[in-house]
Amino acid sequence: MQDLSEKLHDAHNEQLGRHLVANMSIDTGETLLEEQPLLVAPQWECSQLKCAQCMQESYVMCRKCQVFPLCMDCSEHDDYECEFFASGAGKQLSKDLLIKHYGICALLKLLLLLEQPSKRALCLALIEQPVQLQQYRNAEGMWQEHEEQVVRPLLASGLTQLLSNAEQLTADELHAHCIRLDSHAYEVTARDGDTLKGIYVYGASLPHNCVPNTVIALDEQFNLKLYAAVPLQSGDIIYTSYANPLMGTSQRQHQLRLSRHMECACARCLDPTELQTHMSSIKCKQCADGYACCDLAGSGDWRCCNDNCAALMPAAMVNELLVEVGSALVDAKGDLGNYEALLEQHKQLLHPNHFILVDIKQNIASILRAAALLNAMNAPSKKLLARRVELCEQLLPICRAVVPGISKLYAIALFEYLLAFVELIELQFADGDVDKKQYASQLARARLAAKEALELLQYEPENSAEGFLIERISMELERIESDLMKYGKL
Ligand SMILES: [Zn+2]
Ligand SMILES: [Zn+2]
Ligand SMILES: [Zn+2]
Ligand SMILES: [Zn+2]
Repeated sequence: MQDLSEKLHDAHNEQLGRHLVANMSIDTGETLLEEQPLLVAPQWECSQLKCAQCMQESYVMCRKCQVFPLCMDCSEHDDYECEFFASGAGKQLSKDLLIKHYGICALLKLLLLLEQPSKRALCLALIEQPVQLQQYRNAEGMWQEHEEQVVRPLLASGLTQLLSNAEQLTADELHAHCIRLDSHAYEVTARDGDTLKGIYVYGASLPHNCVPNTVIALDEQFNLKLYAAVPLQSGDIIYTSYANPLMGTSQRQHQLRLSRHMECACARCLDPTELQTHMSSIKCKQCADGYACCDLAGSGDWRCCNDNCAALMPAAMVNELLVEVGSALVDAKGDLGNYEALLEQHKQLLHPNHFILVDIKQNIASILRAAALLNAMNAPSKKLLARRVELCEQLLPICRAVVPGISKLYAIALFEYLLAFVELIELQFADGDVDKKQYASQLARARLAAKEALELLQYEPENSAEGFLIERISMELERIESDLMKYGKL
């Protein structure tokens, strides 16, 4: 494990477990940590064999061990795991272990890491964490999948009998390892676009906060870089977020309970207004301009924030409304008209920032974007483009508000807006709807958005999805500036 830079130190407490703390003032964008993965492995349910070295799709096996897949570009994989099956204890096992049960791959990799003293030390922080199996055994979640895809086939293969601590590797202990892998994994993306589990020694110890103070960047080799999203002070705890910031508090908490078995008590979760974003607030029925927020500390009922009104909405009523919209959203089944109707109906009832409206708007915007791509040969309809721009404009301030400082979410929202906006104004200009002067002033707006997005993405590695985005936005910016030279003053 590489040492921590002088900017951070390791700490431990009851509430957060192992975590990292800033040793000094740190500027926005400053790198806090760079780390190679401890292991990268396919998801449990993945059935497409992946190269053990680079994790691209693979259809051939390593010639030496004949157990791990390798792709055409890679000639070898981890020495220990190869030797274990080529000439070590694993030699006696069936060669089609992974072909038949690819789901065991992540746990197999972990068990082989634990066999090696130097690597075992790195895994300790991970495997020493106690797991309350009882919480998982009957709960909704992954237990059954772990049992079928991983634990049962692994035990049946005879592999565990060949490992040094064979007697400890009971079904329960294997389940606990699966849960540890799940709760410490970051979703990383392979070059072929598939998502994988990435486990990092320090990365695994970052506690959650719905308003994180850092950003995680991952490059094509799955290296992790952690940088400051906002200025940090000495003594600040380093947080990341494992929840979708565009969800409301009750939905984020549900997600965190399922994926991490944790209860979040961050500033946003404890604030009924969700730090003034009002992402769960409901329109008051009693007054014209009030919004009701949940009384989190008390009854759980909802009360109008307008002091002159303070009307009460029972929790049951609000829940009913949410369940109703939730099922209507499922019924909308990707149909543009259905989503627009839902939006029209519910914007009367909810705060404009409400997460359900955000969800519906994102759905509409993505349908319009996909339609535009399909119709790339034909001229896109200006009306639909204008609608897309309008939705992007409404989503931008919400994306800005939920993640302060450097935010990839906001940068991507800016990019979406930029694409739609530039396409629209070019079309309007070509059709003579706007004159040169109007066109130039709109181009200047687009230039601002492009520059803001590039500024937010400047700390991302070149060889990453965000690096690709930087290239796209830079190209767009060049086009905008050359048109500005032609039609307006720079
Ligand atoms: Zn490969
Ligand atoms: Zn091999
Ligand atoms: Zn929270
Ligand atoms: Zn009211």
